[in-house]
Amino acid sequence: MANKNYKLDTKLIHAGVSPDPTTGAIMTPIYQTSTYVQAAPGDHKGYEYARTQNPTRDALQASLAAIENGKYGLCFGSGMAATDAVVKLLAPGDEVIVSNDLYGGTYRLMTKIFANYGIKFHFIAMDNADNIKGYINANTKMIWIETPTNPLLNIIDIEAAATIAHQHNLLLVCDNTFASPYLQTPLDLGADIVLHSATKYLGGHSDVVHGALVMNDAGLEERLRFIQNSCGAVPGPHDCWLVLRGVKTLHVRMQRHCENGKAIAHYLRSHPKVGKVLWVGFEDHPNHHIAVKQMRGFGGMISFTLKSDSLDEAMEVLKKTELFALAESLGGVESLIGHPATMTHASIPREQRIQNGLVDSLIRLSVGIEDVDDLIADLAQAIG
Ligand SMILES: *Cc1c(COP(=O)(O)O)cnc(C)c1O
Repeated sequence: MANKNYKLDTKLIHAGVSPDPTTGAIMTPIYQTSTYVQAAPGDHKGYEYARTQNPTRDALQASLAAIENGKYGLCFGSGMAATDAVVKLLAPGDEVIVSNDLYGGTYRLMTKIFANYGIKFHFIAMDNADNIKGYINANTKMIWIETPTNPLLNIIDIEAAATIAHQHNLLLVCDNTFASPYLQTPLDLGADIVLHSATKYLGGHSDVVHGALVMNDAGLEERLRFIQNSCGAVPGPHDCWLVLRGVKTLHVRMQRHCENGKAIAHYLRSHPKVGKVLWVGFEDHPNHHIAVKQMRGFGGMISFTLKSDSLDEAMEVLKKTELFALAESLGGVESLIGHPATMTHASIPREQRIQNGLVDSLIRLSVGIEDVDDLIADLAQAIG
């Protein structure tokens, strides 16, 4: 797509894709092949072996780069595989400063796998970005943020984190899974690498596991592409095709996720049995002003606690919802309900979990795009 000035809603549908050169097929074919025939040794059409290059993957990589306002996209077999590739930029002795409220699997990869390879991770509160400064030393190489955070829906100031990172020659990595490029484009705010679990909003239909990275720097892209090819955690072409298809409706889905999220957040806040409601859109959210500055909407992720903070009562709610399916994951068209303490964040020790505010009765909703009255009625009967 030559004209780079198209707006997001147009890029979501057209970026990276062009009619198939062989047939004119408007949809990118699924190039289900492991290798490509060469006319003579080294004489090929830019494709040698499918771990290294695949046309379906290329289309998706170009699409994701365009919608994140980046130059380069790289796809992986899962969000964790993308995370793994980024940490492999580092060497033993290097240190990373990481936001302390983040995806449980990221915490597990860092503490249970990469810590064994001599990389040190500092998990800290970043709702005030200045906290980062106190942890920077000569070994620090990277700052890792997720915003909105998971599952407490705090907001980290991406621009402020980028300023601190670049003053000290550090890379800023931003996991943009929760916001999606519809709500926030971290590269525009100074992040060096944007990471996605495309399993979530980008894919959007709970039918694929996939990860991606987007960046602007050619040197960084070369190093990450080398890791992608060397380590081999690449997605299959069918999975790339599913994400490519999902991305085309990101804007219409996100619009509805935001509308439904807003209505449900307000409903929960008015419920006598509900304690705290964590949702980025509330004006009294501690970092609402930052959200307004860096996001274009507030999304469909909501966490809430029960006034009783009773684990048993939380379990009852989780069992009783009918439309909200009890499942890990988020970002699909169907509404999901989850219990971070025993599900997504079970790998974080209880003491640390509670210290971070992730209490026993905390329930997380991924609000889908069903009729909002039906969703509210479902929560009403489940909470009682
Ligand atoms: C799900 C998720 C991941 C991991 O992605 P997978 O595709 O499940 O490997 C990473 N970060 C966030 C914020 C996620 O929600």
